[in-house]
Amino acid sequence: MFESLSEKFSSAFATLRGRGRISESDIDSVAEEIRLALLDGDVALSVVEQFVARIKERSIQALPEIRKSTNQSQEIYSIVNSELVEILGGPARRIRFAKNPPTIIMLAGLQGSGKTTLAGKLALFLKEQGNTPLLVAADLQRPNAVTQLTLLAQSIGVPIHAPEPGNGSGNPVSVAKSGIEIAKSKLFNVVIVDTAGRLGIDEELMRQASEIKSAVSPDEVLFVVDAMIGQDAVRTAKAFEEGVGFDAVVLTKLDGDAKGGAALSIAETTKKPILFASAGEKLTDFDYFYPDRMASRILGLGDIATLAEQAKRAIDGDAAKRLEEKFVAGEEFTLEDFLEQIQAMKKMGSMSKILGLLPGANSAAMRKQIDALDDDELIRTQAIVQSMTPTERKNPKILNGSRRSRIAKGSGRTVSEVNNLVDRFSAASKMMKQMRGGNFSGGMGLPPAMAAGMPSLGSPVNKVPPKKKSRSGNPAKRAIEEGR
Ligand code: GDP
Repeated sequence: MFESLSEKFSSAFATLRGRGRISESDIDSVAEEIRLALLDGDVALSVVEQFVARIKERSIQALPEIRKSTNQSQEIYSIVNSELVEILGGPARRIRFAKNPPTIIMLAGLQGSGKTTLAGKLALFLKEQGNTPLLVAADLQRPNAVTQLTLLAQSIGVPIHAPEPGNGSGNPVSVAKSGIEIAKSKLFNVVIVDTAGRLGIDEELMRQASEIKSAVSPDEVLFVVDAMIGQDAVRTAKAFEEGVGFDAVVLTKLDGDAKGGAALSIAETTKKPILFASAGEKLTDFDYFYPDRMASRILGLGDIATLAEQAKRAIDGDAAKRLEEKFVAGEEFTLEDFLEQIQAMKKMGSMSKILGLLPGANSAAMRKQIDALDDDELIRTQAIVQSMTPTERKNPKILNGSRRSRIAKGSGRTVSEVNNLVDRFSAASKMMKQMRGGNFSGGMGLPPAMAAGMPSLGSPVNKVPPKKKSRSGNPAKRAIEEGR
């Protein structure tokens, strides 16, 4: 999402940067480019007009000050950034927990918006933060919803209250009410109530959701909406606001290829904050929504804060400390450490998602490279390292031809893939040494070993064709490649 928007913003600012001294007509032309970009990005017309008017007004008002700056286009850039944060809802909001538990969270939205999946994601998210959630399956409309939520609940080890099997036609209001009673008596501190959706907005849907709302008095009613439906998201939100009423929005499917219109229009048109964002089918593809991080992504600056947080979460605290100590003490970085890093990266999600958070990730050139990345590469790399003996992992210098051949056979890869990995590992070790003398974070907000372990774009790591024979001109290298 946002690729095309991000590119258009970048090109508008590239023109502005070339100007040096900025005039009112430069502001008009950049505002016009932004207007066209937003309209093309499916952003609601009213939001576009207000946004552009505010940028123009603020920039023209600040022009005398801007002209004193040594980097005038940067000043306009800051105005656009702060206005983007505003239309995305301003400061990030958090769940409002009830003073007297349980906190009741009700999910509402159309069928297919991702509500049931989200109930599981939210339960896992809250559990990981030390809460004791109870899931309540009050979507008795969609034939499979109760089973789907029960399976999700089992997979994350969260209790669920659902109607007895075979009693799918029960009353959703009483299921929701009894769920709250159970939570109170068993001291669950959060209850997540999944409700029925329909394919379209209809009276029956609104009536049922309203009844559940009145019966359980939720602390938070979250309106769940699929970001892929573009402008329809705004229309649906308005109908839900009138028919049921909600406190905040959850945007799902932000990983899709929609143009971003829903994300950019919904907070401004509903005047309700976007509380959570879901960007994938996995239960961990979920977090609070941060307007400032989203604005930064739209402006092509990436989302380093999320990247650093994900890295921190993925790396086990003790392992990270051990690595840091090693790093500071100037000890060798081994393939054991490398393996640990690969496993942590796998926990962070797909490589394209990780790299998509870097500045410039939305540029056409970088996008092409990211799209070409092969996520199975991490699995192959792991298999190779796991086929090495502990001594080899500690001292890769002993990896002669026959050892490499054995490792290739053991991992089901080719000798040239083993060679590639060893080369890449040496380069990473070298990078660690350089970083030791300088920038600790490697400039990416990542722990150093992780930054070193990350395959570089365009490196031979990407899309290694299976079992392809290498043709090195160097006889010694060829002997190693062929396992002699
Ligand atoms: P419900 O009818 O609102 O309960 O929707 P579901 O939870 O069953 O989700 C509908 C479909 O969307 C399922 O196939 C989910 O796996 C998928 N889905 C949910 N959230 C996301 C997301 O953030 N990204 C992607 N790509 N798919 C999602």
